[in-house]
Amino acid sequence: MEALLKSIERESEDVAKALEAPDGQMVEVVYKANRVDEEVAKPSTPNHIPGTALRVGKEYIVRVKNWMTQEGMDFNINWNNKKAMPFRVMAGRVLKETRGMVYMSLKARRLRTDYCMKCGRPLTHPVSRLYGLGPECGQHFHINPFETEQELREAVEEVDKKLSEITWSGWVAKSGIEYAMEVNNGVRKD
Ligand SMILES: [Zn+2]
Repeated sequence: MEALLKSIERESEDVAKALEAPDGQMVEVVYKANRVDEEVAKPSTPNHIPGTALRVGKEYIVRVKNWMTQEGMDFNINWNNKKAMPFRVMAGRVLKETRGMVYMSLKARRLRTDYCMKCGRPLTHPVSRLYGLGPECGQHFHINPFETEQELREAVEEVDKKLSEITWSGWVAKSGIEYAMEVNNGVRKD
């Protein structure tokens, strides 16, 4: 606890007071929020579309239900030669379509988080984007888990690179899609 308080010491005078308080005494620490808090919170899911809205030739990020990733499921036995989707969130193009399914060529992809997953405020700091949570909701106070910001960026890039090497093509049940988001040349459409 003391280590955590010390790491955010520069952020708040209350923290200095808390560190001096005798053991067992209650102290209140008010964390000074950034200006971004005053921006109007947007819903974090404004552009989600259902599986039935997917069209041939277009690119999407899809998040599928858990069973789409299980090789023992009848759907994957019948349609994907037991080769189930390796990730629940993947991105790629719809190549063909039937009434209940779309055939997609997909790559694993980290969901870009522009908004805090908890409160929906915009995320601007790289540490917030790493966690998908703002400094307060994520209780990380922008503390970089790496030595430098450069290392943080490199770690995120390395994860993205590894993810993009994980590919899968096959039939996706429209009813197996929790939601999809349209993307253009890899960029999400907002
Ligand atoms: Zn938040």
